[in-house]
Amino acid sequence: MQFTSQQAQEIGNPTFAKSVKEISGTTLDRCYQCLTCSLGCPVNFAMDYLPNQIIRMVQLGLKEQVLKSSTIWLCATCETCVARCPNEVDVLRVMDTLREMALREGVKGKETIIPIFHETFLGSIRQWGRQHELSMLLLLKLKTRDIFSDLGLGVKMLLKGKLKLLPPGVKGSKDVKAIFEKTKGEM
Ligand code: SF4
Ligand code: SF4
Repeated sequence: MQFTSQQAQEIGNPTFAKSVKEISGTTLDRCYQCLTCSLGCPVNFAMDYLPNQIIRMVQLGLKEQVLKSSTIWLCATCETCVARCPNEVDVLRVMDTLREMALREGVKGKETIIPIFHETFLGSIRQWGRQHELSMLLLLKLKTRDIFSDLGLGVKMLLKGKLKLLPPGVKGSKDVKAIFEKTKGEM
């Protein structure tokens, strides 16, 4: 991997790597760059940095580049890398940690819609106890200001009953809300 001059200047920030290790509970130092995680990753073709590169960049303290990368949002949390890593580096927990950090620190990266999708999905679960696709989609459209794309498809799904007009009645939805309240602000 080659670094730009800006990246080279940031190398050596140990605080970032330390925080990622502590929050993820993963010993990144074990990684010896064998690439097994990246070769098995089903979305590696779409990532700007491969998973093994993200691990290396965290070790080097390249916080801004890592938190702005598309990789942390494209990770599909499939756990293939975790299962295959010969050194038990939990790449998935690292990706989770990096997403959390990006959200908490308000970092605007290359992927803008995926974080909004996550937020909208969780908002729906919090509100109804499970997802309500129609309200979720409408909210997502408003938040991303992309009102008209897929409109025809949405109408077709609605007419075929694939999208329910009313939110689901879920037993225990109050408990779900309570879980959200209890875990608010925790990482
Ligand atoms: S599989 Fe494990 S040791 Fe190999 S590059 Fe990935 S994280 Fe590092
Ligand atoms: S958990 Fe993420 S990084 Fe790991 S293999 Fe799956 S998609 Fe790739």
